[in-house]
Amino acid sequence: MTKKRLLYGFILFIILLVIAYFTFIPKIFDSNTNKIDGKPLPTITAEAQKLHDSLTIVDLHSDTLLWKRSLLDDADYGHMDLGRLQDGNVALQIFSSVTKTPSGQNYDSNSDESDNITLLAISQLQPIHTWNSLLNRSLYHAEKMDDVVAKTKDAMVTIKSSRSIDRMLNARSNGGKRIGAMLSIEGLQNLEGKRENLDKLYDAGFRMAGLAHFFDNEVAGSMHGTKKYGLTDFGKEIVIAMEEKGMIVDIAHASRAAVTDVLTMARRPVVSSHGGVQAKCNANRNLNDDEILAIAANGGLIGIGYWEGAVCDTSPASIAAAMKHIRDIAGIDYIALGSDYDGAITARFDTSGLVHITQALMEAGFTNAEIRAVMGGNAIRFLKAGIEPL
Ligand SMILES: [Zn+2]
Repeated sequence: MTKKRLLYGFILFIILLVIAYFTFIPKIFDSNTNKIDGKPLPTITAEAQKLHDSLTIVDLHSDTLLWKRSLLDDADYGHMDLGRLQDGNVALQIFSSVTKTPSGQNYDSNSDESDNITLLAISQLQPIHTWNSLLNRSLYHAEKMDDVVAKTKDAMVTIKSSRSIDRMLNARSNGGKRIGAMLSIEGLQNLEGKRENLDKLYDAGFRMAGLAHFFDNEVAGSMHGTKKYGLTDFGKEIVIAMEEKGMIVDIAHASRAAVTDVLTMARRPVVSSHGGVQAKCNANRNLNDDEILAIAANGGLIGIGYWEGAVCDTSPASIAAAMKHIRDIAGIDYIALGSDYDGAITARFDTSGLVHITQALMEAGFTNAEIRAVMGGNAIRFLKAGIEPL
């Protein structure tokens, strides 16, 4: 009898342990991965707030879909949800699909042999078909996005064409807070080496894609891979197909050789969605001046991030300094926001605090017209042209 009781007690203990694991681990991991550093922030002036409230704001890169947390729930951790996007006066947010990250991830050298996202997918109790397939992980992220949009009843709308951007802007011009959500991809390893999977991703709503993430893949070498090669033959075929469909090519994380290959063959403007500039923060993933000028010559766009790897500091002034560098060497038309919110980074403020960038740009001497361009005007122009088929 006692033995039986002990056994039942043990089984109950294991069940409680499993429940606790699946309930708490995803949240603990998420909140420890996507942090705010708590360092001091300047007081916002009435002038900055007034200008900020009048802006059309676009952010080129968020990884919120990776996490179990729903955009519909106001969370007290992480960087982004619907309420905080509204508080930050965001008009259009691009949500990226992360499908595979190496363990021990670093900026210098990573192989494709390990993957953290498999364990994350299981611990978040994602559908089993996402456990083993990178393509299915992205299709699942698109389903999550569609589900959020359906439940918000027009507070959030899907962006798949220039017309949908116009409709969203029109709704906002009448005083609404409608937010456009567009899907992108962080590394085309989710093609699983097959051209036809590009069509499946496009059909699911993806309109932008980074070629590689933290490791070299079938499409291109990564800045953080072991070989860092350029575009493969398959990669060239994919870039041509993306341009034809109206899927914007994102060179963030791509190796220097791949960036050169893309800019050599590009028939359409490309984006570097999230990162920094080497002149202000000398990390290998940041753009050097030649690359900035080449992106400008291509009519492209550069999203500046808010974390230490991008701007060597998390202060709004450092973000503005990187933007000022691009303005001074290439022009104002090529600058945008590329937060990398919820992308395993630590920031000074979450998306509800974007007014800090407006204020820092004012303090850095940007005119109101320049601030309008940086905070979203450039991105709206770029996206409207880039997501239409050739
Ligand atoms: Zn990234």
